[in-house]
Formats: sequence, C-alpha cells, structure tokens
Amino acid sequence: MIPFAMRYHSTRGNSDPVSFAASALAGLAPDGGLYIPETIPEYRGSVRKSLGTMRFQEIAFQTILPYVKDDIPSAALEDLVSAAFTFTAPLVPVSSRLVLELFHGPTAAFKDFGARFMARCFAWLRRGESKPLSILVATSGDTGGAVADGFFGVEGITVTVLYPKGRVSELQEKQIAGLGGNISALAVEGSFDDCQRLVKSAFADKELRASRTLSSANSINISRLIPQAVYYAAAAGRAAAGKTDSGLPLTMAVPSGNFGNLTAGLYAMAMGAPIASFIAATNINKTVPDYLESGKYKTMPSQATISNAMDVGAPSNFERMIAHWSYRDLKSRIRGFSVTDDETRKTIADVFNRGGYYLDPHGAVGWAAVSKAGKLPGPAAILATAHPAKFAQTVEPITGPVPVPPSIKSALSRTARAETIPPELSALKEFLLRRE
Ligand SMILES: *Cc1c(COP(=O)(O)O)cnc(C)c1O
Repeated sequence: MIPFAMRYHSTRGNSDPVSFAASALAGLAPDGGLYIPETIPEYRGSVRKSLGTMRFQEIAFQTILPYVKDDIPSAALEDLVSAAFTFTAPLVPVSSRLVLELFHGPTAAFKDFGARFMARCFAWLRRGESKPLSILVATSGDTGGAVADGFFGVEGITVTVLYPKGRVSELQEKQIAGLGGNISALAVEGSFDDCQRLVKSAFADKELRASRTLSSANSINISRLIPQAVYYAAAAGRAAAGKTDSGLPLTMAVPSGNFGNLTAGLYAMAMGAPIASFIAATNINKTVPDYLESGKYKTMPSQATISNAMDVGAPSNFERMIAHWSYRDLKSRIRGFSVTDDETRKTIADVFNRGGYYLDPHGAVGWAAVSKAGKLPGPAAILATAHPAKFAQTVEPITGPVPVPPSIKSALSRTARAETIPPELSALKEFLLRRE
C-alpha cells in the first residue's frame, strides 16, 4: 500500500474507494454516488500566505496537486494547468462591491475552467491507450459548449453532444456544433430529458460498450469540480492581501444550480483560502436556501427562469456537500437567498444605471442575493458566471446593446453542423457505430 495516497469515496458509501484517475474516468461511482476525496488537503502555510501574489496558473498547480499527485506528476500537472487556464479571472470593483469575472474563457462561462482542465486531464490519464474514448454529453445549452470546446482537438477522444433540437440559442448551437473535428453534434427531436435518457441507455447498451470505451463529462465529475476551487483561492488571496479593498476576507456570492461551483468554493475554504463565508444565490429553484433555512431537504420539479443555467430543483452536488459537512457546518458557512426574475431584471437595470456595468442574469441573481443579505463583515465578491452577451436577449432590452467579446464573435462566425436524430436509442447507436 502506498502511504498517504489520496483515495476517493462514493457519497453513498457502497463502492470501494478508488484513485483520482479511476474516479475521474468513471464519473459516477458504481453505487450511483458521487466521488469525493477522503480528506480535503490544506495549503502549506507558505502557499496560503502567497495566494495574493502568485500567478493564476501557480495557484492552480498548488491547489490541484494534492488531489491528483498519485496519478499526475508535478511536471505533467504544470503543463496541464498552463494549457487549460489560458485566461484569467479578474476581480473587478463595481459600485462598492467586487465582481469575480469568470467569463473570459472560450465559451464565455465559468464552466470553461472545469471543462478545459477535465479534457486535458483525461488525455493525460489515457496516454498510451489504443482504444479511443467516446464521450457522450446531454446538454440543455451551456455545458455542451464548454465540453465541446474543452475537448476540441484532444487526441484519442471523440465527443458527441446531444441537445434538444430548436431549444438552444443560436450561439449555444454554434458553440456545440460549429467546431467539427473530434466533436460531433446531434440535434435530438425531443427535450433535454430525451437527450439525457438516450445517453443513459447508450451507457447500458452491451453492444456499444463492447465496441468502445464510453465516458461522460457532466458536471458531477470530480475532475471538473476540483479546478473550480482555484479561482476562489486566487480571488480570496488577492483581497486578503489588500489588493482590492480593505484586506478583510471576502464573502463570496455564488449563483447556483447544481451546486458544483459552491461545493468547489467550500473546498477552497477548507484548504485554507481566506474566505469569510458564502452566499448561495438561487433563482426560484430554491431547494438549498430552503434547506439552510429549515434543515429539511426537499427536491422539487425545476421551474423555468431567465437565469436558466440554474433551473435545477434537485441539485446533484448537494450529496457532496452533506457528505463532507453537517447541517451546522453548512449553516455556519453559507446563507441562502432566492431571487425572482423581476428582481433579477431590476438588478441588471440598477447596476447598469449606477455604474455602467453589464451583469448577465446569473450574476445578477448573485448581486441581488448580496443585497438581501444586509450588512456583511467585509467586502462582497459576486461570481459572474457568464458573459452578459451570452444572454443578450434578456440583458439588451434593459441596458441596450452589450459589447460582444472576441470569443463569442468567433463562435457566431461558425456554421453549426449537426445531424438530426429521432429520440431513439437505435438512431444514436447507428450514429456512434458508423462514426469510427
Ligand atoms: C452552470 C451554470 C451555473 C450553475 O452552476 P452550478 O455549479 O451548477 O451551481 C450558473 N451560471 C451559469 C452561467 C452556468 O452556466
């Protein structure tokens, strides 16, 4: 037995602990649970003290290394983080608050951090494998684009993204279906639920499993979660070093749906990043704020809102939160607030009128939640999870034209090439078997 090897356990406790590599490549544990590290490592004192001055990629290296070191040597991890994090996460002052802009990646949403690291991690972990890996992803919009972009051009891996035909925006469709190469797009004549059902039945199909290695890339994957701790540590470090404000620890407001992002924040805090506390900001899908209030966890069917990447009534990462922390622990670290669409629109208008700053609907939910929280012990930092131009149809009627960043311009210039299939496993199978 290797001493001090980091093991990953299932949140449901009925699967054997495995290595980082095995947990990442498997996605879900065999008992249906999510993998979590058996302990959350802590930053060494010298690292913690220099979070405010280190380069982003150096913080990424120091944050991720203890989770992966049994499978990824230091030199390889350095390469992975420099290839994955080619953009930064600036902390911008806006009307006496701070906004942590997480939308400077290629698909203009924070999911780029997780997806790009995951893609390079998979490529490294599978080096030397001859059998190609086929990744299947069902998406309602945002995840598909980030995963497609993250895996684009990664050797030995093909990705098939299934999305509901006619139910994603033009930009999202181009981000998913405009790359080509090792990325295929299937427009399914059905709903997002049909797409998810097709992916699940493909995984269960004996013939497909015999002919290729299948994997998924959805947000429950531990290799997407861990890299998200990095921008919390970087921002908290800068603030505590007095770079932005008073030097007091940040209260970080996280627009949340499946709660992967907030869970990564809890990891950063447990590692020793100087964070005062969190605000869980949801739209009317308020399962977690209700839980924090009452101690009772009750999932509900999701309701459609203008911050649609957070329309989740049964957040999958909640299982991780309660596996690591008790109700009391969570209450002491997080306050939850839910925000209506009207409040979200009003916030976009107020923030624009006061400071000329464009918030997207998800970031606006975070901003509104901070307003509901009242007086805080230090500065508030709101995580802006998407670029406002990504949700122009909601933002522009309020603010007028939103400047479009180069990443979105370049995606819009692509041609979407998707194959349309009926919502049937036979059609998906036929496509996959023909593909190689
Ligand atoms: C996915 C997403 C969220 C929700 O993140 P979770 O980790 O699922 O809580 C918030 N905002 C945007 C723009 C997203 O794409």
